Amino acid sequence: MKLLLAEDESRLLKSLKHIFQRNQYVVDAVSTGTDALAYAETAEYDGLVLDIMLPGLDGLEVLRRIRSQGVSTPVLFLTARSEVYQRVEGLDAGADDYLAKPFSTAELLARVRAMLRRKDNYLPDLLRAGPLQLNRSSYTLSCGSGTQSLSGREFQIMEMLMQRPSFIVTVDEIMAHVWGWDSEADVSVIWVHISNIRKKLAQLGAPVSIRFVRSAGYVLEARE
Ligand code: CA
Repeated sequence: MKLLLAEDESRLLKSLKHIFQRNQYVVDAVSTGTDALAYAETAEYDGLVLDIMLPGLDGLEVLRRIRSQGVSTPVLFLTARSEVYQRVEGLDAGADDYLAKPFSTAELLARVRAMLRRKDNYLPDLLRAGPLQLNRSSYTLSCGSGTQSLSGREFQIMEMLMQRPSFIVTVDEIMAHVWGWDSEADVSVIWVHISNIRKKLAQLGAPVSIRFVRSAGYVLEARE
């Protein structure tokens, strides 16, 4: 599998390139949007991993230009947390995805695998837990005939809970997975996102609840 990686922070570029190579990907690594576009136009890739803020052309502009040439290679954007909502909302969620910095290696590799799966299969990738369905392409949560959109972080938290229903997902695991190991965010941010997810579950009328277990974490369980 061949990836094009564009990132202008040279240390991050180097370590991402190393991570991909260690995981058996062939990688072309560039540090400007102009180079990313030139490479994407001249070589065939299975997926593109583009930082959004790049010198020359930004990652979104690179995407616009290659899409306008009919290139459908899937794209994973890397983005600073503050840029996520204002910049990435308009993306075609079925084809493109984003990962907020800082992220863990495991999460990066999982997203790249998901991106490469989409290349061959644009059908939505669904995660089911009891009556709930989480759509990994559109970041929506469904129950019965109802559907709610989730923000990127709500989606990531819900995905963790739905992968292990009835088991506790610890606060540390959520912090590391969603905010990154070196994040300085306060754990209270998790509470805020969980409370938003609970409101959406209530609107769906979903017969489940997310229970807080003191000194442990959160657990998704069927409501009695
Ligand atoms: Ca950058």
